[in-house]
Amino acid sequence: MTKRRGRCVYCGANGDLTKDHIIPRSVLPTPLGPRNVAHSCGSCNALKADLSPGQMRLLANDMRSVAGRLNRIARGVDRLCRERGLQDPLQGR
Ligand SMILES: [Zn+2]
Repeated sequence: MTKRRGRCVYCGANGDLTKDHIIPRSVLPTPLGPRNVAHSCGSCNALKADLSPGQMRLLANDMRSVAGRLNRIARGVDRLCRERGLQDPLQGR
């Protein structure tokens, strides 16, 4: 994969960048050329994978919903632990 130094277009991280196809080649009937290329960090590129812009938005919405539920559950677990004097045996690991 092409690497160059700079800032990721998605998260702004500094470092080695990968060549990202903004609209994945796998969903394109014909290549779009350089206007479809941006440089992103490997982590953003891997998360983005071959998702189309619409698929990316749906996934982000789903993740927001899951993150919200996980947050509520975590607060509930913390409250129950406090109320019942339960301790996390993995705390600090
Ligand atoms: Zn990034």
